Amino acid sequence: MKVIDIIKGEKPSLSFEVFPPKTDDKVESVLEATTEIAKLNPSYMSVTYGAGGGTSKYTTDIAVSLKRLGVTPIAHLSCISSSKADIKTKLTELKGKGIENILALRGDIPEGMNMEHLEYHYASELTQEIRDFGGFCIGGACYPENHPESENSRADIESLKIKVESGCEYLTTQMFFDNNILYNFMYRLYRAGVNVPVVAGIMPVTNAAQIKRICSISQNTLPQRFMRLVDRYGDNPKAMKQAGIAYATEQIIDLYANGLNAVHVYSMNKPDVAEAIQKNLSEIIS
Ligand code: FAD
Repeated sequence: MKVIDIIKGEKPSLSFEVFPPKTDDKVESVLEATTEIAKLNPSYMSVTYGAGGGTSKYTTDIAVSLKRLGVTPIAHLSCISSSKADIKTKLTELKGKGIENILALRGDIPEGMNMEHLEYHYASELTQEIRDFGGFCIGGACYPENHPESENSRADIESLKIKVESGCEYLTTQMFFDNNILYNFMYRLYRAGVNVPVVAGIMPVTNAAQIKRICSISQNTLPQRFMRLVDRYGDNPKAMKQAGIAYATEQIIDLYANGLNAVHVYSMNKPDVAEAIQKNLSEIIS
């Protein structure tokens, strides 16, 4: 099934993201976790793509295993370290294995990369190539608080416009912890004429170490209300987990209540977290 048909449906969608193992010895445990999450019967699941393509073969394997379990998969695909021939091979493989959905990404630019001989510079180039190849529903990434390389939000939204014109059918957001940031972003998209559906990406923060990582890699605003939870419960893992799940649940309910019908949870390969959030929303998404 094409993800665009799921997120355009009447029913609110709740989906989960998983990531492939970074090393070969973790394959079994990651497959177990993704199977547990799949048993929750989410609207769909996405599988990330290792930066630089290192363990990228597992993205396809996990997507195929999800399909066998009856869950619609999205395979992420990044292009910055790839040649056009690599991408063609990958698309042929995905199509051959019955994967219908791709999240088309540029990927982070590896440190010290020689930019002169790159065959891709932006996700929009990959998007166009996938569209020309045919047969896939194509999604893309967006950043309610701007992509770190963007000069300003106007430039960022102009880039999104190009991505959509290249064939991107919907956008999934980077995590955010204050829904007003998303509502403001949606308004700016609307003003710029970017009219594709937006899927809200929600990260349940269940331990204090995650916060440090988030702060070091993204430009997220962390609201006072959120920081109070971390201050109070950061040293108590069980309490922090409960508070993080409650915070994410509250964010999701507010999003649905305001008409945003598609939510994607960065479940970080944690079936217990995915299950707790889904249970909290059982009547809302039924
Ligand atoms: P782009 O859309 O190409 O944007 C990158 C930058 O270039 C932005 O600043 C943009 O404004 C600018 N830009 C874009 N087009 C143009 C243009 N035509 N002219 C001028 N400027 C332009 N990374 C992974 O490695 N694997 C994953 O699986 C993965 N999954 C992700 C999922 C989501 C939902 C999100 C939000 C991010 C994900 N990332 C992943 C991270 C992503 O690869 C990085 O954030 C990367 O730096 C940008 O990728 P992009 O596809 O958004 O790039």
